[in-house]
Amino acid sequence: MTYLYKTRFGALAALILAVALPAQAAAATNLVPDPSMETKASNWLFSKWGVNNGAGAFVSDAHTGAAAGQVSIGTYTSGDVKYLSRPVAVTAGGTYSASVWYKTSVLTDLEAMPYAANGSEMSAQSQWIADAPVTSASGANCQTTYCQVSGTFTIPAGAATVRLMIPLARIGTVKTDDYNLSTGAAPGGLSEGIVSVTIDDGWSSAYTKARSILNANKIPATFFVVSSFFGDTPDYMTAAQIKTLANENGNEIGNHTTDHSDLTPLRSTTAQRKFTDAQTAIKNQIGVTPTTCAYPYGAYNSATTTEGGALNVVPIARSIFKACRSTDGGFNYPSNFAADSTLPWRVMDYNIDSTTTRAAVKQAIDQAKQFRAWLVLTYHEIGETRGGDQYSTTTSDFTYAMQYLHSSGVKVQTFGAAATTVLGQTG
Ligand SMILES: [Zn+2]
Repeated sequence: MTYLYKTRFGALAALILAVALPAQAAAATNLVPDPSMETKASNWLFSKWGVNNGAGAFVSDAHTGAAAGQVSIGTYTSGDVKYLSRPVAVTAGGTYSASVWYKTSVLTDLEAMPYAANGSEMSAQSQWIADAPVTSASGANCQTTYCQVSGTFTIPAGAATVRLMIPLARIGTVKTDDYNLSTGAAPGGLSEGIVSVTIDDGWSSAYTKARSILNANKIPATFFVVSSFFGDTPDYMTAAQIKTLANENGNEIGNHTTDHSDLTPLRSTTAQRKFTDAQTAIKNQIGVTPTTCAYPYGAYNSATTTEGGALNVVPIARSIFKACRSTDGGFNYPSNFAADSTLPWRVMDYNIDSTTTRAAVKQAIDQAKQFRAWLVLTYHEIGETRGGDQYSTTTSDFTYAMQYLHSSGVKVQTFGAAATTVLGQTG
């Protein structure tokens, strides 16, 4: 039953659960105010950002009741449109279940946006809950009939409230209705929690600043490098420096493509070359062949094509690597991997930028241990701001995090080693 609950069988699974486990079904109180969107704008906030002509409206084509929320986009360059639920008070570290009924013309997903106690949006920790595809897992056409998706997620450290949403970030139309958020059972965990440290883009500070801190704390890390940046000093590491990292401390070198371009608008043969040419360059210049990747900008879905439903970069990555990291926020659980065969190539992370506090990183590490989850920390520059302030972490904050990670006693593995561990526990 647990397995069924975590997959996306929609109404059927929910019905089976309700019959088989009436006590548990009755106990789950829906925390979302006005979940069927009947009072419309008094409880549901339309939100739009970026360059697009997106619009929102309350329509009568509802799943239940008289109203559903509809967002649509006709011309698109960037950003998204969505309806946001009223903020729901939650417990940081708690596990919650969420679901929604929807009709859509393109692939989108159900997410929870966390907010700190002072009301500030924690957009870097937005939680992916479940994909909302055009064709449901059971084969239903979700353009013409309402489909349901559900999932479980963990409230990130520092969050006081969340709003549920289905953001539309491409040309298309999405209707949503009958949202649910309730406290839920924790997903199936690992035998013990694991934390992976990943450092992106091959910035020179990975060698000049992070290296000694990692080595001193015996933290093996994964460096996702961009092959055309090798030797582009002083900003980026030389091939010799990356080779030194590759051969010490149990570190891993991962593939972050040849040139860091967004893969999603590219022809599939071109996107494939961005990975395979980087594989060749890393093999020739560093002496290792990566088994993992990270998508530039975390992007694996096309935002601008109307094909819908396709995870257009995932099949390419899957043909080359054993696992790849996205920038979808969240903890990773083997039960989720068992439920969705594409998730090893969409591994979720915890993005650390210049605004991330020491306390938040500490709490994320504590949660990985407590919930026996796989936590992937994503860093960019350490102690330098060559690429701008936003994705830089101070040397003292990085030192604090690595010392805490070491002293916490939580299992630390490179991204690739951890993927192997997690995939070995999905059965
Ligand atoms: Zn990058």
